[in-house]
Amino acid sequence: MKYKFCPKCGSKLIMKDSLDEGQVPYCPFDNTMYFDLPKPCVVVAVVKGNEILLLKQSYIFKNSKVLVSGYVTNGETVEETVVREVKEETGIIVNKLKYLGSDFIKESELLMLTYMAQYVKGEIKKSAEVEFVEWSSIENAICQMKEDRIGKEVVRKVLKEIGYDKECIYLCENKYI
Ligand SMILES: [Zn+2]
Repeated sequence: MKYKFCPKCGSKLIMKDSLDEGQVPYCPFDNTMYFDLPKPCVVVAVVKGNEILLLKQSYIFKNSKVLVSGYVTNGETVEETVVREVKEETGIIVNKLKYLGSDFIKESELLMLTYMAQYVKGEIKKSAEVEFVEWSSIENAICQMKEDRIGKEVVRKVLKEIGYDKECIYLCENKYI
């Protein structure tokens, strides 16, 4: 986010030269530079055999299901975020995290760190911010996620990871892209 006013004291920021980053908004009262940083968040494909955990959260996408997602908060590692968000949103405990790469969404300045995680234990117990959570056949997942570009990309990577080699899933995908 590009700050114009100091988030600490409210003063108008001035531009100051930072050696590596060029001109950076700066508060002379707090002696603090406000770099234009992205917001890191995680997207997690929770996998149990041939099933994947899908959520419905209409405030994200009205007509699509999505994967677990959430912001990395101060004081935790990204791995901790993955485990915490899955537990909070779905009640499920995961381990064996595998990093699947990152993506950036310009409009919302989100740096999406994507993961696959294995189901360990727990029954689905959704949080209030989720309409429903369900295990879905991984073959049918992409068809249910038509608005979720990054989620679908994660599912494609998961399919590769688990060695899925049938064609039917990709036929469905082509209908929507
Ligand atoms: Zn200030």
